[in-house]
Amino acid sequence: MTVRHSNVTAAQWAPNGSSVESADLTKEENVIFGSNVFSIKTQRERLPDDIFARLQGTLERGEALDVELADAVAIAMKDWALENGATHYTHVFQPLTGLTAEKHDSFFGPTPDGSSIAKFKGSELIQGEPDASSFPTGGIRATFEARGYTAWDPTSPAFLLDNPNGTLLCIPTAFASWTGEALDAKIPLLRSMDALSKSAVKALRLLGDDDSNRVVTTVGPEQEYFLIDEQYFFARPDLIITGRTLFGAQPAKGHELDDHYFGAIPERVLAYMMDCENELARLGVPITTRHNEVAPAQYEIAPMFENSNVGSDHQQLLMQVLQNKARDYGLVCLLHEKPFAGVNGSGKHNNWSMGTDGGKNLLDPGDTPSGNLSFLFFCAAVIQAVNKHQGLLRATVANIGQDHRLGANEAPPAIISVFLGAELEKVFDTIAAGQGDPDTPDATLDLGAHVLPALPLDGGDRNRTSPFAFTGNKFEFRALGSSMSLAFTNTVLNTIVAEAIDDLSEKLEAVGGDDLTAGVFKVVKASYTENRRICFSGDGYSEEWQEEAAKRGLKNLRTTPDALPEVIAPTTVESFSKYNVLSERELEARYEVWVEQYAIGANIEAETAASIARTLIMPAALKHLTLLDAAKSAVLETETRDLTDQLIETTKALEAANIYPDGIEEDLLGLAVYARDSQLAAMADVRVVADKLERIVADEFWPLPKYVEMLFIK
Ligand code: ADP
Ligand code: MG
Repeated sequence: MTVRHSNVTAAQWAPNGSSVESADLTKEENVIFGSNVFSIKTQRERLPDDIFARLQGTLERGEALDVELADAVAIAMKDWALENGATHYTHVFQPLTGLTAEKHDSFFGPTPDGSSIAKFKGSELIQGEPDASSFPTGGIRATFEARGYTAWDPTSPAFLLDNPNGTLLCIPTAFASWTGEALDAKIPLLRSMDALSKSAVKALRLLGDDDSNRVVTTVGPEQEYFLIDEQYFFARPDLIITGRTLFGAQPAKGHELDDHYFGAIPERVLAYMMDCENELARLGVPITTRHNEVAPAQYEIAPMFENSNVGSDHQQLLMQVLQNKARDYGLVCLLHEKPFAGVNGSGKHNNWSMGTDGGKNLLDPGDTPSGNLSFLFFCAAVIQAVNKHQGLLRATVANIGQDHRLGANEAPPAIISVFLGAELEKVFDTIAAGQGDPDTPDATLDLGAHVLPALPLDGGDRNRTSPFAFTGNKFEFRALGSSMSLAFTNTVLNTIVAEAIDDLSEKLEAVGGDDLTAGVFKVVKASYTENRRICFSGDGYSEEWQEEAAKRGLKNLRTTPDALPEVIAPTTVESFSKYNVLSERELEARYEVWVEQYAIGANIEAETAASIARTLIMPAALKHLTLLDAAKSAVLETETRDLTDQLIETTKALEAANIYPDGIEEDLLGLAVYARDSQLAAMADVRVVADKLERIVADEFWPLPKYVEMLFIK
């Protein structure tokens, strides 16, 4: 049977996932949202009143839990989990790989009489001690010092993960080394949220807000992904091993017709989406939108925003659910940034804002003059932060998958810039000019007189090509890759904005005087004037922008090896040490792990490509040659022979590149650059030839599913 025969089976889908029926939502038992979450509601029901009050109090004050309290919570959590079918529990954490890690422990222990009982103590809830020797540490800890600690994060709710054969209690945790260094993504994120809260509350006091005691950063992601039939996935070693197709000629039809974007969702896909949303609802992850994306077989899902910590945990969970559920429908969900060459890749938008404990969004212009004053202050701080740490922000979205996507006329450019929208830009320009703008009607803007009317900013002003855009009441960082964790990007955003807020606060204090409005204007004016080079409202995809950005002195870090050194740049180290978010050693650890991941990832791609070229594509070409030989078609034979010779030549060159030159491994960044310039480059040469062969070799000989099948059979 050739690969092609499976198309018929692939096209016939049955609704073989779990059945999602429409429920009568007026009945309480049908409201599933959060039913698998050890939520505040469940805690209130299950914990003794005094324990519940003490737990909430401890959390609000951000204090550590004592053991007695933890014991009481552990008992309630265990009972709840067992009643819901759980047999095991796990501390879920996010090591430096950016993936989620879990080790399952049984609730049940043997008793002297030979039976077993369920046990789970407070100490087991609070802390675990997994053998951490195989997690990357970037040199923070030698392998023989294998101990690492996981510590319960009570601010991110525990939840139950259902499996057809059992249920697992998942406890979100942080992961640290024996010596107390953060080995995960959560600890720095929590530290950065604290830093921002402190800075923002201090600023709010200066701005006349005496009520807010805490400021929480929020994140609302938008996730793109591809769905392809699993038959094709498992017939492609490149997809299985690297998550993307290393070969594949362009189909006659791409997305030129724009017939997929926001189109009717295919029935199988919609059934899958509904099932995912149901599962996510049970897990307490609220979803707001779903739609088809630009590329064929590409879709998007967007959860509601939550605080950065919970939002980041939920995003990991969302990616897991998307991948697991797909298999129930005979599909595979691809989260890779660029699964198909020549077709749009997948990104992730990171909507980011800050809100007070009183519920006020600090990036919402609001409709009172004082609200606007604070809005302008915080907005100026974001612009200043992004300008100062543009390279670092670029580094937070760097990985090997992104190198095929960023700046490729489909995704935001590798140059970081801020889009304010015409109205907000005008407001800032007017402040910078220090006078009312003659083109702006007095009724809307009379900034020269220091009177600040309501700013009716229209959130509808859009620029899809901007990597960092103001969208009405939040900033949208659009350069993340689809497979990425949100944690580091938000850690960086929180930290650099905290720093900028402090800087503006100090300047505001220095100005002194009774006229707050005049003071804020002065500070905002100086900051904006100094940082406005980062603001750009034109076409980010254009050639001219590359030139213009270079003139402005903006960084253009095209590839991952270019971007990652920003993680350990002096400006980064200084800011992150000052706010105790990541020490120099912790930053270096991350840098090392990520550079190594890039080099290893590139090597895996290059080795996989070489193997596919040799063992699948070359034999197909040779078989086709014998066919032509038998048919005595000289013209076709010459054409095929030329290409086959080129395939042999380029494959051999790739195989040679895959042997590391002596000593190259001693310098990690050097290895990454070698992988990029030698291995990935050699791989691209093989692909050009192989894709030409795909167009002429007999279909029945071609060993890999083609783009047309993977992208269009739904
Ligand atoms: P768009 O297409 O305009 O980007 P979507 O509706 O697809 O809009 O996504 C908007 C995203 O912004 C959602 O994930 C939403 O949760 C998020 N969002 C809205 N308000 C905030 C906020 N204050 N902080 C963080 N994210 C937010
Ligand atoms: Mg968006």
